[in-house]
Amino acid sequence: MFNKEEFRNFVESKIVNLYNVKGSLTKEQILTAICQFDCNINEYLKLKPANCSLKLHRIFDLSNKPRNVSINYWFLYIFGFNRCYKCQKILLISDFCTINRFWNKINKECKSCNKISKLNRNKIRDKEY
Ligand SMILES: [Zn+2]
Repeated sequence: MFNKEEFRNFVESKIVNLYNVKGSLTKEQILTAICQFDCNINEYLKLKPANCSLKLHRIFDLSNKPRNVSINYWFLYIFGFNRCYKCQKILLISDFCTINRFWNKINKECKSCNKISKLNRNKIRDKEY
């Protein structure tokens, strides 16, 4: 089961340069922004995307993070979880099917949502014939 508190502690443990957290943003603001999945982190922190990215790269070591992956999903992935884009639940990576063409090899929808999608697809196909 996903525990937001544990995830927050995990993200906090990944801070490599606390000095850079000071200034315009507090550590609390950054941690809260990374632990929410309602909007993009730069929108959440009210920063321009490039500026936000620069700040985050100073605070955390993101050298292994693929460029187009948001920091929220990246840390969630290292933590062993993923967020289903359909039911929006945060679930264990094992609750998702493997898809090789994605950066994390994880399907975007969880296994139970995938089952429902498949059933619906079959229903539509049955109607067509
Ligand atoms: Zn789902």
